[in-house]
Amino acid sequence: MHSETTSTRNDWKKHEVIDLYQLPFNDLLYLAHRIFRENHDPNKVQVSTLLSVKTGSCSEDCSYCPQSGHYDTEIEKERLLSLDEVKINAKAAREAGASRFCMGAAWRNPSDKNLDQVIKMIEVVKDLGMETCVTVGMLTEPQAQKLKTAGLDYYNHNLDTSPEFYGNVITTRTYQDRLDTLEHVRNSGINVCSGGILGMGESREDRAGLLLQLANLPQHPESVPINMLIKIKGTPLEHVDDLDPFEFIRTIAIARILMPKTYVRLSAGREEMNEQTQALCFFAGANSIFYGETLLTAKNPETEKDRALFNKLGIQADSVNDSVNPSLHSEVNAEIDTQVAVSQAASIN
Ligand code: SF4
Repeated sequence: MHSETTSTRNDWKKHEVIDLYQLPFNDLLYLAHRIFRENHDPNKVQVSTLLSVKTGSCSEDCSYCPQSGHYDTEIEKERLLSLDEVKINAKAAREAGASRFCMGAAWRNPSDKNLDQVIKMIEVVKDLGMETCVTVGMLTEPQAQKLKTAGLDYYNHNLDTSPEFYGNVITTRTYQDRLDTLEHVRNSGINVCSGGILGMGESREDRAGLLLQLANLPQHPESVPINMLIKIKGTPLEHVDDLDPFEFIRTIAIARILMPKTYVRLSAGREEMNEQTQALCFFAGANSIFYGETLLTAKNPETEKDRALFNKLGIQADSVNDSVNPSLHSEVNAEIDTQVAVSQAASIN
């Protein structure tokens, strides 16, 4: 592993990421936490709220998703929400402390008419003084430009998993389709939000592969949501084995090391996590969560429970602050080299 004078890298190698996974847990968390502290306030967590503005009947076959029209799930399909409904939800989110309001629609890609409807929603939320994020499927470059002109702050489009494992999860669009959408979003000047889902039966190498893809994009995403699979009845992943929470925490830590300035979001699946696991994720470098009782269609810990946990940990809900202190990152990279070398020597001996 090499150290550089720049504060971030986009040339990570698979074996370097695997080496990080193999560090003793305490060494990994120590490294991640140092990088976290050097780039962010470790006691502040950015809070977003996510609203499904159009639910169900999606033509894609994402194996984890209750909204896919390919699976018989108990989801209630809903038409596109009205602007009033969006406004009421966004106001409630703002009052609960959210600084960003994300809207998701279950589309493969938006038609131009759909996009116009979404743009009106963005305007409503912006008028409330909140940051906006939308996730409405694949975008063309002109569509991304249109959203930028409307003032959209963030676009979410997840890579989901490694390129190698991807075909086990989705067959109706390619990995390259996803990368293309991310490129269009980036080129338009909208902030990129992109992450993935753990616990879909993928290997550690796949988890490393996902992080590698994100970290080696030409520019790191501003926001990286790391989700734990929520197993939904009726989807192909309903009975997949549980992922060890320590592996989840390790992945958060490595995301923090690879992408020091990014907001790493502890995303779906928190409902199933105990407070101690979440606290370790915050220590390892997670500094963003979704707030509110539902995450698109899945359950999320109630706002009060989140507040109580923040109080116990002395964490403040933060309005978004992208300022960072990169000064010590190259020194920390050198330390990662040393730690990995020591751990490799230990395992060889
Ligand atoms: S994850 Fe998105 S694209 Fe995939 S099935 Fe669900 S709503 Fe459709």
